[in-house]
Amino acid sequence: MSPINILNNSTLEAINKTIWHIKKSNSYYFELLGYTKEIHSYDDFLKLPFLTKEQLIQGYPYAFLCADINNIVRVHMSSGTTATPILNPMTKGDVEQWKEIMGRCLLYAGVTGNDIIQVTPSFGMFNGGFGFHYGAEKIGAYLVPAGPGRSIFQLKLLEDLEVTVLAAISSYPLRLIEIAKEEGFDFKKRTKLKKGIFGAEVWSESLRKRIEKEMSIETYDIVGMTETGGVGMGIDCFDHSGIHVWDDHYFIEIVDAETGEIKEDGEEGELVVTTLTREGLPLIRYRTKDITKIISRSKCKCGLQTVKIDRIKGRYDDMIKIKGVNFYPSTIESILMEFDDIWYEYQIIIEKKKEKSEVTLIVEVKNHITEEIADKLNTMLYDLLGFKINIKFVPLGFLERTSGKSKRVVDKR
Ligand SMILES: [Zn+2]
Repeated sequence: MSPINILNNSTLEAINKTIWHIKKSNSYYFELLGYTKEIHSYDDFLKLPFLTKEQLIQGYPYAFLCADINNIVRVHMSSGTTATPILNPMTKGDVEQWKEIMGRCLLYAGVTGNDIIQVTPSFGMFNGGFGFHYGAEKIGAYLVPAGPGRSIFQLKLLEDLEVTVLAAISSYPLRLIEIAKEEGFDFKKRTKLKKGIFGAEVWSESLRKRIEKEMSIETYDIVGMTETGGVGMGIDCFDHSGIHVWDDHYFIEIVDAETGEIKEDGEEGELVVTTLTREGLPLIRYRTKDITKIISRSKCKCGLQTVKIDRIKGRYDDMIKIKGVNFYPSTIESILMEFDDIWYEYQIIIEKKKEKSEVTLIVEVKNHITEEIADKLNTMLYDLLGFKINIKFVPLGFLERTSGKSKRVVDKR
């Protein structure tokens, strides 16, 4: 199925309302849409242009603002790598919308008012901390606003306050597991932790399994970004059969990341988001650069019927193109994590040698790697990529630990 069949009346109405809102509040943005008449069908909708990250960056700080500055109550900022960030100025209505969707996310992750949630993303310009704060407030849970860093102290809080839910950027549990190992801290024995809600970075399915095992928890993958109004655009439910996107607030499409052509359900491509209820920074056909696919639109075992997308496979910008093969770091990661003796930290280095691209994979290991394991890993990677890569096993702690997003690829070409 394609979105042609699913753009229902209430979504159409919300899209028209959003465009009307842009028309009223921002002539620059409205003109970019080239909008002439009301949207009556998906065909009409397809005439609207895409909005890109580059446009939002160039529009810093307020070129796309669709509200009177006096009605803005909060601003959040993208954690992107470019010098100029993307701002999302929020109205009171936006904060309410955020609260609503984050509350839902927690609910569908099985979190209740009796849970104690330790929130480790920062409470600052990055949206993570506040997002969880609003969600917890919505469902009446007990929030521990720990913020990032101080990992030994985080473990202490988890234990002493009998925390049941951990919220984090998806690479942070790895850091906690690492520190716990050093400290001889057993999550199962010392904490009451049941669930982890992680997002903001790509984490493979096999890495997920490892985290669940090490921490004795069930994990949920939450999506959303500064541009869409922060974390909480969707989450996977207990069935873990894809990520529910709150489609009364967001209309999503999947397009070819190169050509922009619409993809059918089940086909992989770039996630494009249109916001249906946002005010400060409404998005029309926003190219997120996240690669995923639509898994289902039918009723889920949890009782919800929303569009469900696959877990994010990678960011388009992180795609490695080499020797005619395109792949994402998460694909390599999912193979590495199948080996118990391999640790979580790895780095892919691409260099040009004698006019040819060479890939070296630096892998931290817990224990000595036997020749047999090394051969098996080599074979699996060769089967996947169709060319040989150099693997360098290094001891634990070899790669630099960063507090923000992990650097998985170093392209020296
Ligand atoms: Zn479900």
